[in-house]
Amino acid sequence: MFEHFFHSWYPSYFLISAAVMAGLGFLSLRYKDSFVAKYFMIFMFLTAFQSIFSIFEITSSNLIDMIWWRNFQQIPLFISPLVLLMCAMEYVGLQSLLKKIKILLFTPITIYLLFIFTDQIHHLMRKSIEIAHYGEISKLIITSTSLSQIFMTYGYLIVFITLLLLLFYFRKIPKEQRKQTLYMIFIVSVIILHSLVLGIFKLPVVDFKALLYIPLGMVIYFGIKRRNLYSVYPIAKDIIIEHIRDGIIVLDMDYKIVDFNTAVQKMVFDFTGVSIQKGNKVQSKETLLMLREYRETGKTKYEFSKTISGNLVEYDVTFSSVLDKHEKQIGFLIVLYDVTEAKKLTRELEKSQRERLEFISNISHDIKNPLTSIIGFSEAILNGKAAADNTKVVQYIHQRSIFIQKLVEDLLYLSRLETRSIPFEFSVVDAKSFFERLFQGIQEDVINAGNSFEYQLDIERMDIEIDTKRIEQVVLNLIHNALKYTEKQDVIKARVQSKGVFIEVAIEDTGIGIDPDISDKIFERYFTDMNHPTSHGLGLAICKEIIEIHNGTIGVKSNPGTGSTFYFTLPIRG
Ligand code: ADP
Repeated sequence: MFEHFFHSWYPSYFLISAAVMAGLGFLSLRYKDSFVAKYFMIFMFLTAFQSIFSIFEITSSNLIDMIWWRNFQQIPLFISPLVLLMCAMEYVGLQSLLKKIKILLFTPITIYLLFIFTDQIHHLMRKSIEIAHYGEISKLIITSTSLSQIFMTYGYLIVFITLLLLLFYFRKIPKEQRKQTLYMIFIVSVIILHSLVLGIFKLPVVDFKALLYIPLGMVIYFGIKRRNLYSVYPIAKDIIIEHIRDGIIVLDMDYKIVDFNTAVQKMVFDFTGVSIQKGNKVQSKETLLMLREYRETGKTKYEFSKTISGNLVEYDVTFSSVLDKHEKQIGFLIVLYDVTEAKKLTRELEKSQRERLEFISNISHDIKNPLTSIIGFSEAILNGKAAADNTKVVQYIHQRSIFIQKLVEDLLYLSRLETRSIPFEFSVVDAKSFFERLFQGIQEDVINAGNSFEYQLDIERMDIEIDTKRIEQVVLNLIHNALKYTEKQDVIKARVQSKGVFIEVAIEDTGIGIDPDISDKIFERYFTDMNHPTSHGLGLAICKEIIEIHNGTIGVKSNPGTGSTFYFTLPIRG
């Protein structure tokens, strides 16, 4: 009578434990992004599923259905130990190893599951299957084969490895975090005990033993909530140190390397002068000098730079002392901060600041000279020293004023281009006919200037999307420069050709050429050839801005004395 009462309750025991485990799993959902707690959350859901599949098994009416539900139970049952192991590996900071062996860990489980789901065909996993009746419900009693016992042993082994791993790392853990780790060990021990009770001793979990999942879930949930298993974990410090970009080295009092993080190994220069290995003694002269100075003067901050295959690397080095419990120094902590990029930026900033000042001084100079002449000549007229109708004087005043006007206009134009505050009117044109028309117009100008002009269009019909006026302006500017720096009678050549997804326009002259030292600088806003009286160094800077707005590039190839070829590219419309 009493027995029957219990048996009718069997499904409910599972239902209750499934509900509690799923409930705790849902409560732990908020820790799904944390390292350790996420695995416990998965564990609880897996256990809930296992209970649900058990309900299906014991309430099924035929053998085939029961076998299927039993098979499904094996999925959470065998994945759970692995979840625990992954949890422990992350906890002790073995993520990278975990990543490497994850597939390996899961392979036996996958094989096992494949086997049991196809057991009807080969019986490799089950010697016999019987149905045991417990009052109104029934349950499978399975006699396993040695092969299946091997797989089960693998499952248990994984849980034991998990426990061993935690115990092993326990020694390394700082005191203040030991309690937390002890709790982890406690959880894993409870899980082992749980599986021992239910598994190894072959207690059929059909009666109230199913409820044993509930205290298990509680123990885990208490761990997550109260023991903060979701937030800090002992090896967190190690992980941070391992992943930090700065190099960290610890030396003992004899300058022997005690420990270092991975960033140090990745550093391209040799800071220690020996291969970076625990136990090796620092030999680098610079480092030894810094260590000596630190010991003698207490100075903590140093700079370290080296040129490695042509590239300068710069590091800020900070020294501090490692102290024992009694504040006695037992070693040195060296932190290396990579400041290569920061220093480079500062230098560039300083350079551009200098160039800006130079530019202001150049421009002021450029404006001051013609202005002085204008003032001089107009005063001469006012004082009666020159006749007001002296065409030469008036022409001179006019010319100088136009120079200043052009300079100011270009300056304004360039700064508006640079701040992208000029509207561009893009239209799609056929590159071949556009440049043909443009070069035909230019031909006359060049001939008037006393040179000759040849052009070559090595392209088929192809569309480009450009602001025609601005591209004309670029070409005219390059042609004018070519004329300006080339002897009369010489030929200026233009060529358009396609280069992959771009067209390239090149203007070639046989003029004075450009020194390779300055060929990069001539496109800079502030660069000007001071030798040329009508130069103000803004033309090429304007060209560069316009071409860049068109998503193209501009450049020059030149040999001093033999001429220059300026070229720019424009994207072909796909
Ligand atoms: P500007 O010609 O008014 O000085 P640009 O920006 O057009 O301003 O040119 C900058 C500098 O580039 C010039 O001062 C000159 O030194 C150099 N340069 C430009 N084009 C040529 C060329 N075709 N041949 C030689 N040097 C050139």
